[in-house]
Amino acid sequence: QIGSMNDSQDSLDGDLMTCVSSIYRVAVLGSLGVGKSLLINQFTSSEPLGTLQECSSDSDADGVSIMVVLNEQETMLQFMDKQEDVTAATDILPEAYMVVYSCTCRVSFKAAVQICQHLKEHVQTDKSVILVANKADLARRREVESDEGRRAAFRYECKYIETSAALGLNVDELLVGVLSQIKLNLHPEYP
Ligand code: GDP
Ligand code: MG
Repeated sequence: QIGSMNDSQDSLDGDLMTCVSSIYRVAVLGSLGVGKSLLINQFTSSEPLGTLQECSSDSDADGVSIMVVLNEQETMLQFMDKQEDVTAATDILPEAYMVVYSCTCRVSFKAAVQICQHLKEHVQTDKSVILVANKADLARRREVESDEGRRAAFRYECKYIETSAALGLNVDELLVGVLSQIKLNLHPEYP
């Protein structure tokens, strides 16, 4: 079991994670105002998953690290709030990308689709991409239907999920989904 984690551990750096078996980085992308910060904030208080604690980030202010216990395995997920800066040069590539839009804002959906396209063209295919349609609670202000979001996700081979960061709807499912996708991609033999 430990042996199968070697691949991911090789890429670790810093002393933040000396205490955990694995850490995965998740870049959170999407237009301003779609709810990225609130989603990440909700993750930190996500309880049904057995989230143990919120570990404060060591360096930059926009990285939030969350300890998740899933299937009796401890994992550190480090969320990096990157807005639309998908092309920014990074020394460390994340294991997953959360591309967020608001279903009340078509412009943000178009931006999300462009990000997905960029990721498909420029990023290794073994990275997990999750398309997140947030603000699902604002039904009357909806501009992007679920089907449209689902089709875009299908086209770019992403997972699709609808959330409401405000109500905490599907937030735990998103957290589990991100982690499961990462594990599935890194260790297809252990789904
Ligand atoms: P960011 O720029 O992507 O980080 O977006 P924020 O997390 O700062 O959210 C922008 C605004 O949208 C804030 O006023 C949030 O309270 C609100 N917001 C975020 N998510 C939701 C949601 O799911 N539903 C509703 N109704 N409002 C939300
Ligand atoms: Mg923000």
